[in-house]
Amino acid sequence: MSNSQLFVRDVSRHVCTDDYWVNSSFVILEKMSQFWKKGLQFTCQQCGRCCCGEPGIVYFSPREFDALVEHLNHTRGLTREVIVRDYMRPHRDSYTARDDFPDGHCIFFDKEKGCSVYEVRPSQCRDFPFWRCNLASKSDWDETAQMCPGMNHGRHWTAEEIYDIASKARL
Ligand code: SF4
Ligand code: SF4
Repeated sequence: MSNSQLFVRDVSRHVCTDDYWVNSSFVILEKMSQFWKKGLQFTCQQCGRCCCGEPGIVYFSPREFDALVEHLNHTRGLTREVIVRDYMRPHRDSYTARDDFPDGHCIFFDKEKGCSVYEVRPSQCRDFPFWRCNLASKSDWDETAQMCPGMNHGRHWTAEEIYDIASKARL
C-alpha cells in the first residue's frame, strides 16, 4: 500500500490520484466491468477508516466547496474566509480538506459521529468504493476491501448502477 498521495492508489482515503483518473477512459471502464458484471455488494458500516489514516486528497470542486461553505455557515456560523483559513488547503481550482494531523484524519471526521459534513461531502466520498481504481480488477477491489468492511457485504449493486457511478465520477 502506498504511503503517499502521489501514488496511483491510496485505499486508506477516498482518494484516487488525478493521474489515475486521467488515464481511466470509458473504454478502460468497459474492460474493468468483467469482474463486476454480476454486480458487487457494499453497505457502509460507518467505521470511518476511509476518513483516517494515511494522508490523501479530499477534493471539493468549486461547486462542492460553495455547498460546504453554505452548510458550515448555516450550521456553525463560519464564514468562507474562516473555512478557507482553518479547514482547507488550496488545490488547483479549489480546495482539499485539511488532513495534516498526526493520525491523518480528514478535518471533517468526528470520532463520535463520523463525517460531520455528510450532507455536503464531496463526490469522491459519495462515490466510494465505486472508483475506477477499485473497479479495475478483482484484486484491486479486494485489496481495498481489506480496509473497508462495507465492501462485499450488504446491498447488492448492479453493474448498471456501478457503471453509472464510475462513469460520472468527477475526474
Ligand atoms: S465501511 Fe468503508 S466506506 Fe464506510 S466508513 Fe468504513 S471504510 Fe469508509
Ligand atoms: S469529507 Fe467526510 S466522508 Fe469525506 S473524508 Fe472527510 S470526513 Fe470522510
